[in-house]
Order: sequence, then structure tokens, then C-alpha cells
Amino acid sequence: MNIHEYQGKALLKGFGAPVAEGVPVFEASEAEAAAKALPGPLYVVKSQIHAGGRGKGKFRELGPDAKGGVRLAKSVAEVVANAKEMLGHTLVTKQTGPAGKQVNRLYIEDGADIERELYLSLLVDRSVGRIAFVVSTEGGMDIEAVAHDTPEKIITVAIDPEKGVTAADLKELNGALKLDGDAAKDGETLFPILYKAFLEKDMSLLEVNPLIVMKNGRLRVLDAKVSFDNNALFRHPDVMELRDITEEDEKEIEASKHDLAYVALDGNIGCMVNGAGLAMATMDIIKLYGAEPANFLDVGGGASKEKVTAAFKIITKDPAVKGILINIFGGIMKCDIIAEGVIAAVKEVGLQVPLVVRLEGTNAELGKKIINDSGLNVVSADDLDDAAKKIVAAVKG
Ligand code: GDP
Ligand code: MG
Repeated sequence: MNIHEYQGKALLKGFGAPVAEGVPVFEASEAEAAAKALPGPLYVVKSQIHAGGRGKGKFRELGPDAKGGVRLAKSVAEVVANAKEMLGHTLVTKQTGPAGKQVNRLYIEDGADIERELYLSLLVDRSVGRIAFVVSTEGGMDIEAVAHDTPEKIITVAIDPEKGVTAADLKELNGALKLDGDAAKDGETLFPILYKAFLEKDMSLLEVNPLIVMKNGRLRVLDAKVSFDNNALFRHPDVMELRDITEEDEKEIEASKHDLAYVALDGNIGCMVNGAGLAMATMDIIKLYGAEPANFLDVGGGASKEKVTAAFKIITKDPAVKGILINIFGGIMKCDIIAEGVIAAVKEVGLQVPLVVRLEGTNAELGKKIINDSGLNVVSADDLDDAAKKIVAAVKG
């Protein structure tokens, strides 16, 4: 689960991290009071969407010459004018994709005088099984380019879970970020705070880009992107309250209502599979034959007819889907139940694209018979390889 920048900053502030004063606003009419509550004379008006790259983003409705999704303002009046222009409009950034995201919230912040923009993130480094800091002196809006062109400028410091952030780690981080004086002292305080927040709140990503050194030599968290491990959310009702479902994929929300493990992807072959491992293997084999999956979907081990119908509806709702592959190994799950669910769903929502079904395991023959006797335009496959070839050929043909 992701949260907005202003929520992430409030959370980090609670752990003692240095963040600017700021006020979230939901309506343009609140902007004036928000700005007046801040010291000035520099303000920042920041679009709150669950995507980065806002500074360089463009508002679709405002034309190419309009300013981006993060704007500096030098008076209360300028804050108000920018808030009016930004709210309700669609911001397109590198991370939103071409559809963009509507800006429904702004964060009005006290502006900082920036000396240097650094990059800092915390993530789970699976290669070493540890939480790691990833840092670079080249922070700001072009970190992707830095990672691509000069990867040696990005430094990873993995933390020993038993020791936590040690003095040696702090030295390494300060060195990597070329911090000295007050900034180095601030770093020594800040890095353990961020590690603690990450650990206690079961985050999966904490990205501060940029972490800034201000003209006065002090550090400040200027941007915050925070993601949480969904499987640990039950431990954090306070975090769950921060959920903004208007930012989430509609199909994923629908799937979570039916307890389906669904992740929307960019390809055009919709997949319905039982078991996470088989679902991943199915995505791999689609790619092997030169196409891309439109989603990951695990209907689970003991899916009911209703669940299968719901899953099928979610897949067919995606306009990108040009073909569907159903791949079921019936163990606990019976193939005839799946077949009935599929047919019920097809009858209910219709079938505009080719559908290939591979059933194996318990009651496989019965399942195939149900599908063949249905009179529906369904291609049945003998095994996974055959199924993948058939669906890839169908979407390419
Ligand atoms: P992002 O583009 O979505 O990553 O949004 P950020 O919050 O990182 O802001 C983008 C850029 O705006 C930063 O890299 C800064 O260069 C600039 N910016 C943001 N806040 C301030 C501020 O308080 N003062 C100044 N001078 N620039 C800021
Ligand atoms: Mg940023």
C-alpha cells in the first residue's frame, strides 16, 4: 500500500525526522488559510498523487507551457493562484503513465533554500536478506538517469538486523553523501530514525528524493515516498487509515473485495491461474512465447464458482486484454467447478476475445467436457506449453 507524501512526512516527523511545516488542502478555498499558517516568504505547492516525477510532470488540461506538479510560490496570493490552477486537473508524469492522475489534494509547504539535493532510500535488499540504505549525492529529479548512466554514484549500505545502524554504517553513509559539520550530525540522527520507522511500520520502501542540505547547512526530508508491506498492514491500523483508494487501480480494489491476489500489468493476455507459483510460471511462459501478461491473478486453492466469476469479470473489464488464458491445476480445486464458473462468467459478461483453457488434475475430463459442451468459443489446450502457444498466436493473429 502506498500513501501520499504529506502523510509520509507526518509519519516520519512522528519519529523525529526533520520535515518542513506544511498543510494539506483538498479545496482551493483552503489554500489561503494554509499559506497564511506558514512562515513564508517561500512556499511550495505540491500535487499529492501516488506517483513520483511530479516536478517534471505536465498537467494535461493546461497545455505544454504551464508549470509542473510541484511549484514554488513567493506570496500567499501566488499559492492561491497555483492551487486553483492545479486542483482537479490531470498530472502526467513518467510514473503515472500516459493516463495521468487527477490531483485531488495539494500539500502547501514552507519552502527551503537548497544547497544540495541528495538521494536516500531504504528498501529490502533481497540479495543479502537485509534492509539497506541506497544513497547518492546526485539526488533530485533525475535519479533514474543517474542509475542508468553512472551507477557507481549510487551506494548501497546493508544493515545488520542484529546490530541495527552502527557507527560504521553512519560513517559510511555520511561519507557516501559527502556530509560534514552540522549536516553530518543531522545524518547521524536521521539515518537511525529512518531505519526505525521502516522497521516498526513494516515498510517495503521509504524513498527520500531529495534529501536536502539547506543553505544553513542542515538536513531536511524534502520528498517522501512510502510503501507498506500489505501482508503486515493488519498490525498497523493507523497506517491503514491513510489508504486513499481513489489512487488505486479499480481492478485491484475489486479483486481485494473477493480475496483474489491480483496485480494489474501492462501486457494484453489476461491470466487466471490457481496458485501463485503456477501464476508466475504462466506469466513466464507467455513472455517466452513473445507476448506480455495483462495481470497476475491467483484465484487461490479453494476458489468457488463465485470467485472464478468475479475474477473473470475483472480480467474482461481491462480494455487492454486481447486474449485470456485460464490455467488451472485442480488439486483441492476441482476442474469442473472452474469450468462452470468460467461458463457462468462468459454468459454473464460475454466474451469478446479469444479464450484458451488448460485444465489438469482433479475432474479435468469432466471440466473439459463441460467447456466443450457449452457451445462457447473456447479453445481447450493439452498442457501449459500448448496453452501458451495458442493464446499468444490468438492475440498476435
Ligand atoms: P517529485 O518531482 O515528485 O519527486 O517531487 P519533489 O518533492 O521531489 O520536488 C521536485 C523538486 O522541486 C525538488 O527536487 C526540488 O528541486 C524542488 N523543490 C521542492 N521543494 C522545494 C523547496 O522547498 N525549495 C526549493 N527551492 N525547491 C523545492
Ligand atoms: Mg522527489
